[in-house]
Amino acid sequence: MKTKRAYAGLASAVLGAALISVAVPTAGATAGQTGAASLVASEDLSWSLYNLDGGRITAGFDGYSSTSGRHEGIDIARASGSPVRALIGGTVTNVVESDAYGMSTIAIYNATFDKTIVYLHSNPLDTLRVNQSIARDEKIGTEASRGAGGVHTHVEMRIGYRTLAARSSDSTLDNPNPNDFWRARGYNIR
Ligand SMILES: [Zn+2]
Repeated sequence: MKTKRAYAGLASAVLGAALISVAVPTAGATAGQTGAASLVASEDLSWSLYNLDGGRITAGFDGYSSTSGRHEGIDIARASGSPVRALIGGTVTNVVESDAYGMSTIAIYNATFDKTIVYLHSNPLDTLRVNQSIARDEKIGTEASRGAGGVHTHVEMRIGYRTLAARSSDSTLDNPNPNDFWRARGYNIR
């Protein structure tokens, strides 16, 4: 299958880049990094979501500062229309352009890690379909503010096969802290 070969090639390329980058000094080592995670090349989540400079984390996991309740994901913001890319590969489980609340959803399940990454508020690519295979770094949408007060992408890591995000802003935290998961994938939480 052409798609599978392409995916494997990309995975090898990513791994190769990771190995090469080990020798490159980065400011990414933090107290939270342990074991194998510290051997993986580090990119900032706020860079990798777009593969462009200029993104920034505006609210961390369970890190609302001006909103009440719990925050089930990490908010990352860049200019409207910026390309939004998959932080890890997987299979699309849900694409919602805009629901009754104006909320958009892109959910991608990774069977290797048994995790679903849910991206909210972006404008999904018109070509995105359920069951489509997505590679790490592949463009899945563009930065927007669908169902949000401002332009950003909410990135949420959920355990198992999911199609929707957990409810943020209520008093219950449904998702585990994703920071170690992201570090183990080679990302700095910044
Ligand atoms: Zn959020």
